[in-house]
Amino acid sequence: MAAARLRCLISYGRSSPNGNEEGLFYALDLGGTNFRCLRVQLGGKERRVVKREAVEISIPPHLMVGGSDELFDFIAEELAKFVATEGEDFHLSEGRQREFGFTFSFPVRQTSIASGTLIKWTKGFNIDEMLGQDVVAELTKAMERKGLDMRVAALVNDTIGTLAGGRYHDDDVIAAVILGTGSNAAYVESVLAIPKWQGLLPKSGEMVINMEWGNFFSSHLPLTEHDHALDAESLNPGEQIFEKLFSGMYLGEIVRRALLQMAEEAAFFGDAVPLKLRVPYVLRTPVVSAMHHDMSSNLNIVGKKLEEILGITSSIDTRKLVVEVCDIITKRGARLAAAGIFAILKKLERHKASVDKPRTVIAIDGALFEHYTIFNKVLQSTLGELLGEEASDSIIVKLAHDGSGIGAALLAATNSHHI
Ligand code: ADP
Ligand code: MG
Repeated sequence: MAAARLRCLISYGRSSPNGNEEGLFYALDLGGTNFRCLRVQLGGKERRVVKREAVEISIPPHLMVGGSDELFDFIAEELAKFVATEGEDFHLSEGRQREFGFTFSFPVRQTSIASGTLIKWTKGFNIDEMLGQDVVAELTKAMERKGLDMRVAALVNDTIGTLAGGRYHDDDVIAAVILGTGSNAAYVESVLAIPKWQGLLPKSGEMVINMEWGNFFSSHLPLTEHDHALDAESLNPGEQIFEKLFSGMYLGEIVRRALLQMAEEAAFFGDAVPLKLRVPYVLRTPVVSAMHHDMSSNLNIVGKKLEEILGITSSIDTRKLVVEVCDIITKRGARLAAAGIFAILKKLERHKASVDKPRTVIAIDGALFEHYTIFNKVLQSTLGELLGEEASDSIIVKLAHDGSGIGAALLAATNSHHI
């Protein structure tokens, strides 16, 4: 059964933000290409997020596959630098320690609100010694080594953070989806529907399920030879099959593989196969996006990117076909992502038209959704197609820019030691 392939982690039974949170809180978001440090000054029910500041730092690739201390030392160091720039607009109440929400977006077995062990790496990370270790303990040790006096008040992943951030602004948010380097989703479920849960029932009667949908697999998923080859040559073969069909880390690589096959089998770029086209991951998703959105009559941007990145001089006809390949692969991806969202709506029985159908909001975070306009549009139109016109009226897909960061800071506030 497909469902058995999903790890569906129950997020730790924590309190959710209710809007009354006040004070200065930080968030640290690690889970892909970049990591972000964020601080917010929360002003309670009326004033909400009074001020926020964030920085984004790209993770040096060697740290993704090196040792655990090296990665956490780097993070603690950057966090310390960010804290040092805290201005006078932010106020930490007297005698309090700075607290933060740690968004760590890899599969984690949560052991308490602020601890959890790593189940496996995804998205190009691979640090063996971290498997089974408590990620908060590792980060805390690194902060101690740097002399940084801060405390993790909540450990979350990006879907949980986005859901919390989304619900803080809008009560009708029922699910969060990440479309960035990787892909995942979380949704709010009634406790009665969770056979896995054996603990105390939360008062609200609701729990948040982190689906880990990136790991979805079913024999009904139509995989091409390129999907199979990409998976086999990846750092995590056999894992994260759904994610590998459309997330930002992989979309460009699928396009590269398709173009390489055309070059090899049909001399698409001339007699010789361009050497650079053989380099795995050389074609990044933002480049595919830039080529795909090229509206110039002679496809200048496509020509320029092919030249710059692959060393290919191209005719207009070649460029048109390259755009066609980007279009096919991206649309397939966006349609699959839409099918995933539809599955959540169906599970919650929000997919049918009815007179008193509640407003239903899905919060989406991630640069793929934010910046890849065609992907975004196709996802939304496919969802409309699946739901039908009437049912789609009450379903809203909303970009939650950096929702996971804000959400993590809010969860830190809700679960603060000082409340
Ligand atoms: P993370 O998943 O690390 O939290 P983001 O949400 O910023 O990060 O997503 C980063 C991913 O989004 C990158 O891997 C990249 O593939 C994709 N991306 C970034 N910019 C664009 C763009 N302009 N068009 C398409 N995809 C993009
Ligand atoms: Mg993210």
